[in-house]
Formats: sequence, structure tokens, C-alpha cells
Amino acid sequence: MAPKVDRFVSPGKGNGLRATANIRRGELVYSAEPQAACVSNKWAKNVCHHCFSRHETLLRCSQCKMARYCNITCQKLAWPVHKSECKCLRSVLPRIPTDSVRLAARIVFALAIEMTQYKLGSSKGNGEELYTLEEHESHLSSLCEQKREGLSQLASMLQLYLQEEVSALDQVVSSLPPSCQDPMSLMAKVTCNCFTISDAELQEIGVGLYPSLSLLNHDCGPNCVMVFEGTKLHLRAIKDIELGDELTISYIDSMALTDDRRKQLEEQYHFTCCCQRCDSRDMDALMASGEEATCCLLKDALPRLDGLKAESNWPELLDLCKELLSKAGSSFPAENLSKLKVTDVALDACIQLGLWEEALEFGLKTLPVYRCYFPDPHPVHGIQLMRVGKLQHFLEHITDALDTFKQAYEILKVTHGDAHPLTSELKMKMEEC
Ligand code: SAM
Repeated sequence: MAPKVDRFVSPGKGNGLRATANIRRGELVYSAEPQAACVSNKWAKNVCHHCFSRHETLLRCSQCKMARYCNITCQKLAWPVHKSECKCLRSVLPRIPTDSVRLAARIVFALAIEMTQYKLGSSKGNGEELYTLEEHESHLSSLCEQKREGLSQLASMLQLYLQEEVSALDQVVSSLPPSCQDPMSLMAKVTCNCFTISDAELQEIGVGLYPSLSLLNHDCGPNCVMVFEGTKLHLRAIKDIELGDELTISYIDSMALTDDRRKQLEEQYHFTCCCQRCDSRDMDALMASGEEATCCLLKDALPRLDGLKAESNWPELLDLCKELLSKAGSSFPAENLSKLKVTDVALDACIQLGLWEEALEFGLKTLPVYRCYFPDPHPVHGIQLMRVGKLQHFLEHITDALDTFKQAYEILKVTHGDAHPLTSELKMKMEEC
């Protein structure tokens, strides 16, 4: 299938991606494997470092003792890149570099392999990419002192990490484009352009670089979404897009107030968002609705909830959520973002504790709010419907479950498409009802 996209200069945003034909809502626009990807440190023990599937137990690399694989096939397929990584990991033990440093190193290893294959005539280079790493935005020249300092620490870590392989890679590294040899520039590009890789439940399990898709600019009400199948990234249209229109995604969680979204985009991506949603401050009043003292009480409690969740302290987490929701009272608006977050965390805690009826009650409370905040099909909404449907199914509320699964399907067929394993799982659930 010929891609229906091309690069162009997007006024005020640098380079971008636009449609070269009309694209219908629900259409697959582009699929790509990463140039490099790595499982995040947090998930290193439970996610295969080759195919990114989740398992309770995995084979462990006997040398670095960090990389893990489903089976020997995944281990063999991962070896060409892991061979260099393994030496570097061992050289800095017991320290483990951050996810972004490990990804930057993997980009260097992947480029070195490409370069060698190219020289040997067994590869045509990355001629299919619409955007090369050399062209990627780094914002290096306009960073404030504090950001430069942070980046310089990451760059030093990268240098130390790569030391073990520098002599082996020396010849190939010296023929890489200049900005890919300079650790500061490489780290700046990785920070600005890498994508978080999520699993089917939207857990963030890794990071990857998909060079052509680094062209995508941000919009808080985008016309495309990205979903993953292992490490493969699918870009899908969630609105009808006309020939010549720019393709956009949201870089951040769109369920946030305009000021919070703008702050995050400025800090992480160095631009001020002027999209239609930001300019009109769309839905801000609703997201912050409710009496002020209660809004503060709920908002201030969120870091404590995150802490308890990180510790997997589910009983205390659930108690705290219940206490907060009872203090807020049932008349406090469900649309308030902090209340929604507390309700969502309570749902997670109930599921972890096997309190299915209570989980369903919390889940049902979130659905009208998700519907309101996601007027276009969105994976987060589809997956929330699927979770609630599974609870209804388990509790034998079969008619309700089928209805919820049908609503989830209306979303997933657009965001994930009929061929995605998650959509197939959903269709099987519907057949069981
Ligand atoms: N425009 C980029 C380029 O020329 O390489 C491609 C996207 S890159 C992943 C992210 C960078 O694009 C941001 O750091 C910012 O400079 C720019 N960008 C993305 N969305 C934007 C927007 N809505 N408004 C202004 N700049 C944007």
C-alpha cells in the first residue's frame, strides 16, 4: 500500500506530515517498525526485550542479566544489537542508564549495523524513511541553562556507557552524520523525538525512535492516533482528513487543563501550543468544576495516590480514595479531573484486590466522563469501556456487558482497526455474551 503522506513545511511548526490523498476516519495511514527501541527499566523483568510482549517469567541474558526474552528465537533475533549493548551494560554495573540513554545507545548500534551492511552492499540504507535522524529537531541552540545542564548529564552518562564499545564501533561511528556523533545533540534529538511504546492496556513499557513519524506535529484535538502492536507503530485517522491537510497527534495526555498542557509542551517540546482547543480553552471550566476547597483537597492528594500506587499498596490506596470521594460528596461534579483520577485509581485498586462489584461501580462512574472528554474515538476511552465490559461479563451482567463491548468496538475499529489483536479479543468477548 503506497503511503498517503508526504513531508512538508508546516507554518510555525517546522517540518510536518500532510495527506497526499483524502483519508477516511478509521483508515490506517502509516505503519513503521522502530529504527531502535528499548524496554523501559521499570518493565525490564516482565517484557521481552525483542518483541515487547509481557510475561511473568522470561529467559534472562546470562551475561548482562538485564535483557530478557520470551524464548531463544527472540534472544537470537535481538542479538545483533544486544551484542554491543550487553558489553556496555556490564561495564557500568550496578548502574543502569536511564531509558533515554539506553535508547540513544541502541540508535548508535543500529546505525553502525546499517552502515556496515551498506558498505558490504547487503542493504540499501534507510532510503524509505521520510526523515533522517540528522534532520530531526533538537532545540539544542535555544535551550535554557537548566535544560542544557540536565542534557549534559545525560550526554556524559551516554559517553560513559558507550566507552566499552567505542573502539569497536570507532570506524563506523566516525562515518555517522556529525549530530549523531555528538552525545549532547543525540540526547537532545532523542528527548524531543522518541515515542513511548505502550502495550494493549496502555501501560508505557518502552521507548522507540520511528524516524518518519518524528515528522508528526502536535495538536490537542488531533486527527490521528498511534497504537502499537509489539514494537510496530500504527498511525490511524480518527477524523476524515482531506488531501493537503496536516496530520497531527497529541504528544501528551489530552485530559488536562489548557495551562497544564501548554506547560508540559513548553517544558518537554519547547513550543507554545496554539491549537484551536488551547486558544478556546475548550472544556477547562468543566474539567475544573466544583467548589474550590474540594478541588484543592482532591488535587493535592494526587501525588500521594501515585506514591501508594507505585508501592502497590492497594488496601491503603483504596481507603484513601474512598475517604477523598466521601469528603467530596456525591454532588461534587464527576467531570472534575481530580475526582475522575481518584475514581480511576479506586477502580485499579479494586481490580488488584479482586473486589469486582466495587470495581464495576467505580468503572461505571467514569464512563460518562470519558465520553464527554473524548468526543472523537480515542484508545483510552475504548480500553476503559473494555475494562468495564469485562467486569460486567465476569459478574454475569451479560446484557450490560454486550452493550458496553459494542460501544468499545465502535471506538476500537477506528483506533486499532479490525486486524489488531485487541479488537480480535474484543470480538471474541462479544461472541461469548
Ligand atoms: N516539526 C518537527 C520538525 O521539524 O522536526 C517535527 C515534530 S518533532 C517530533 C517535535 C517538534 O515539532 C517540537 O519540539 C516543536 O518544535 C515542533 N512542534 C510540534 N508541534 C507543534 C505545534 N503544534 N506548534 C509549534 N511547534 C510544534
